[in-house]
Amino acid sequence: MLNIALFGPPGAGKGTQSEFLINKYKLFYISTGDILRKEIQEESKLGLEAKNIIEKGGLASDEIIVQIIEKTIKDNPEANGFLFDGFPRTKIQAYILSGLMIKLNTTLNRLISIEVPEEVSTKRLMERGKTSGRSDDNEDVIRNRLREYNKKTLPVLDFYKDKNVLSIVDGTQTIEQVTADLTNIIEEELNKNLLNIVMFGYPGSGRGTQAKALAKKYGLEYIAAGNMLEEEIKKGTEIGKEIKELYDNGQLVPDEIVVPLIENKIENSKQAKGFIFKGFPRTLVQSYILEGILKKHGLSITKMYELEVSPFELVKRLEYRRKQQYAKSYDSSTAKILYRLEQHENTTVKVIKRYRKTHDVVKINGMDTIENVFAKITEDIETGAKNLR
Ligand code: AMP
Repeated sequence: MLNIALFGPPGAGKGTQSEFLINKYKLFYISTGDILRKEIQEESKLGLEAKNIIEKGGLASDEIIVQIIEKTIKDNPEANGFLFDGFPRTKIQAYILSGLMIKLNTTLNRLISIEVPEEVSTKRLMERGKTSGRSDDNEDVIRNRLREYNKKTLPVLDFYKDKNVLSIVDGTQTIEQVTADLTNIIEEELNKNLLNIVMFGYPGSGRGTQAKALAKKYGLEYIAAGNMLEEEIKKGTEIGKEIKELYDNGQLVPDEIVVPLIENKIENSKQAKGFIFKGFPRTLVQSYILEGILKKHGLSITKMYELEVSPFELVKRLEYRRKQQYAKSYDSSTAKILYRLEQHENTTVKVIKRYRKTHDVVKINGMDTIENVFAKITEDIETGAKNLR
């Protein structure tokens, strides 16, 4: 999903720019102002409640706005993403938006502030008032709207400043120039990592197979902690030697070794459209670490899957793999296999449980062919906003 909010005083050109952006990026447009005007026209309860205050140039209550926004989002589960115009307009609404984005398992990618000085926006609104038919486009009300903007809306920027999602555009330029600036910002956003998946499941559930296939399909960087450790051993690096010694003594590789490897990979994967993690996080500590690493890079987990496979089938698959040439060193004996299954049961299941409270961990039946399991996962990825609970 791509979620953008256009910010700026009345008359900044948010509405004008929106028309172009929603067509180009197939975003669903949510203009709280438009929705309120429609409600007023239809004389709905909500409209009647908001009418007075809007006509005076004040702001409708956050309670009304949250109802509008939630309903609109829920009514459009197929949306590619949303373009918000005139929302969030208060700090409270910024919190509301964060909450709604979490519910959708997504985030606000950018809040773009179109800056224009007060004289310019006043002049534009007066001009618009001649033809817009909007009762709030007259001098007294415009002054009030700008006063409300300075008092209640501008502080919203503080909310986003240190979140790394704020962009600023000079709104005094021509319409075309502003459009070009907005397009550049959005293109840059699209090139960023948009899909970050964590793949859970017991060893043998098919996590690696599916994760690799997903990485290929969606241009993601595949991050498998176990494989990375194996690679270090193979390359014979200093870390590799250390890992080998730990393995040979049957000890776990400490986070001090695993974490820098993962962080390195994330930092060096500027081309990737996202990341898919397998075998990490496998402990609660690692789940906090992952959040920290992602946050540092302005990323978050967008999807989590848990592949479900019966214990008998797991053992069958792992025992089969053990005897193949491509067997991993970590499943080279039945004892090792059982140990890994037990480890998962005792530590990683807790991680999944923790995530269940904050994320939508989607269970996928893994007792199917590789192709069918893959089809189920990709279908879920592509339904996007459908997961609104
Ligand atoms: P707009 O079309 O965005 O200029 O909005 C017109 C009027 O609708 C504003 O002056 C407010 O009275 C009201 N309004 C629109 N969006 C919001 C919002 N997010 N919060 C409160 N009031 C809003």
